[in-house]
Amino acid sequence: MKPGTVQRIFDDHFPAVDASHRLDERSRRAAWNIRTCRTPAQGYHIDACPNGDYRIRLNNSCKHRACPLCGVTETELWLERQSAKELRCPHHQVVFTSPDSLRVFWYWNRKLFTNLYFRAAWHSLRELLAGEKRLGALPGVIAVFQSWADEQQVHLHLHFIVTSGGLTPSGKWIPADPEYLLPVAVLAAKFRGKFLAYLRDAFKTHTVTGKAKASNQVLVPPPNMRMQQCLNLFNKLGRQKWHVQVEPAYVQAHGILKYAGRYIRRGPLSERRIRAYNGKRVTIGYAHPEKHTRPTFSLDAQDFVLRFLSHVPEKGTHCARVYGLYHSACRDKLNQARSQHSQPPYDREAEPPDTHELLHRMFPDFTGDLCPHCHARLVTVFVERHANSPPWRKAA
Ligand SMILES: [Zn+2]
Ligand SMILES: [Zn+2]
Repeated sequence: MKPGTVQRIFDDHFPAVDASHRLDERSRRAAWNIRTCRTPAQGYHIDACPNGDYRIRLNNSCKHRACPLCGVTETELWLERQSAKELRCPHHQVVFTSPDSLRVFWYWNRKLFTNLYFRAAWHSLRELLAGEKRLGALPGVIAVFQSWADEQQVHLHLHFIVTSGGLTPSGKWIPADPEYLLPVAVLAAKFRGKFLAYLRDAFKTHTVTGKAKASNQVLVPPPNMRMQQCLNLFNKLGRQKWHVQVEPAYVQAHGILKYAGRYIRRGPLSERRIRAYNGKRVTIGYAHPEKHTRPTFSLDAQDFVLRFLSHVPEKGTHCARVYGLYHSACRDKLNQARSQHSQPPYDREAEPPDTHELLHRMFPDFTGDLCPHCHARLVTVFVERHANSPPWRKAA
């Protein structure tokens, strides 16, 4: 549907959801931004033609990471940056999934849980690939955390996009078997062991050297569970089989990158997937219709709001990360690998395209930021950020 549908659904239903649920600040802040994006509540700015023949006053956008109106260009920019680094080699997609019973720990410790999740997955992969028996090399990884499944319900998983090969300590590129990166059961068991160990360790309030940890580094048990129950659960999960999926290598990383990265900056679904909204129910098209027997599913509008908000990350959580050869600390190694793929060194100085350039690349017919008289690019000459006091402050 046309942009603004999520905003409309939130306008119609968020007040009732807010009145009947105990929402946290994270959710209320996201809802306020989604509802006020590009309205006078966010303030305004004035764009003017540099030749002096046109001025326009526009409401500010909210720039919230979950806002479907705001995230499109930022997502595109992120994809551009990753693509510039990408090694011209096949990439595997590896999906790490955690058991559903851990969801509640994520719910109460979103940022820390996400950090440990990423760390456990990366450490497992790095350790196994570095082993002499396996590849004996360091891969490049682009990783994305997603908290949702096909129907927007909570389902925690990580997409890892992994080079099919890596750089040995002596600086030689070794390709991996494109059909078979790693034995799935070994990877799953290692990930399980590490993640549970990191979670257990996160309960400790002090480091090994006796220093008190910052409160956001300490895992909080869910309110209905005692510490011992949590540890028992971890022990039980340590004996179960976990799910990790390793796909055969794709020729180009860009496709998977686009697939995994497209939601990093606009909430759990794009507005294009909303097929209908009648004021009460929302009909949504599946992201992967081929996996389902029907093309769409529908949700009560209040459930839609709740599910949408349940996936908004805590402030400061990085839901997309890079590791190994793609990490900025490994720039020399990346360039060694690039030269063996006949690619020029990665140039971090190369300016990424700005919003204007990106918009015109994505929507060639877009004229919204051009002067209607002389077609010069408009320049922002004034910004007024007099946002109204958001409701979570009023409530405080
Ligand atoms: Zn916005
Ligand atoms: Zn002009």
